[in-house]
Amino acid sequence: MKKWYLVIDVEKCENCNNCFLSCKDEHVENDWPGYAAPQPGQGPSWITIEGVERGQYPFIDVGYLPAPCMHCDNAPCIKAAKDGAIYKRPDGIVIIDPVKAKGQKNLVNACPYDAIQWNEALMLPQKCTLCAHLLDEGWEKTRCVQSCPTGALSMRHIEDAKMQEMIKTEKLETYQPERKTSPHVYYKNLHRFTRCFIGGSIAVRVDGKDECAEGAKVTLSNGANEKIGECMTDNYGDFKFDNLEENSGAYTLRITYTGYETKTIKVNLTKSVSAGMIFL
Ligand code: SF4
Ligand code: SF4
Repeated sequence: MKKWYLVIDVEKCENCNNCFLSCKDEHVENDWPGYAAPQPGQGPSWITIEGVERGQYPFIDVGYLPAPCMHCDNAPCIKAAKDGAIYKRPDGIVIIDPVKAKGQKNLVNACPYDAIQWNEALMLPQKCTLCAHLLDEGWEKTRCVQSCPTGALSMRHIEDAKMQEMIKTEKLETYQPERKTSPHVYYKNLHRFTRCFIGGSIAVRVDGKDECAEGAKVTLSNGANEKIGECMTDNYGDFKFDNLEENSGAYTLRITYTGYETKTIKVNLTKSVSAGMIFL
């Protein structure tokens, strides 16, 4: 049977918070019996957007990670809930029963992703329902997906085998897979949040003036002297090797540019780093 998946492209998220607002619009003061009691207007949110700043001025970028409930297949929250207060639907969506879960505050700590929030007024643990009340009415998108202006969020309603294919072709990953919860939320370009880069700019001096070295060839080798990447500098003389492991040690940059001597630079990678302005 077909199941629901949410795919989030980290590279496309601009931290506009439309997803957060549309979730509030759908759930604050709205009761969806069987799916969710009303969400508080202030305080807990059912989707968070965390940011990470990478690099150093002026070579810098920011990655944003929208994170709702992951709708795990192997959900610790389901195991922790009494009386079947949290359950997995056949279509992959995990629901907290708004009646049975009343008073079960311990469930807030049962989620390793901190996706469950405590509603003090209603004495209820609550979280993202993947807008199941709308999907069951025939909607094809949740409110957050519908409101995302950049297309960072998308829904998939497909068979498991097709999803497995998509994971490979689109290079999708789950967040913190070491938690082994088998999420139904997948990320594209997750490296923008979890991994790091080596970047820099190449320049030359022509007639006493500094000029960007466009089209210089930069290769990156690891500590074992294996080439792991190659690129050409852009019209600003910039280059960037992304998707590298934090604290992965020694790397060597080798820069070649017609008419200039080849230059090598050593980098010890801890976090994203700019090698600065490199003059040939
Ligand atoms: S992310 Fe947390 S709340 Fe959501 S299904 Fe997984 S364990 Fe449960
Ligand atoms: S609506 Fe889209 S772009 Fe805006 S914060 Fe949410 S995921 Fe990011």
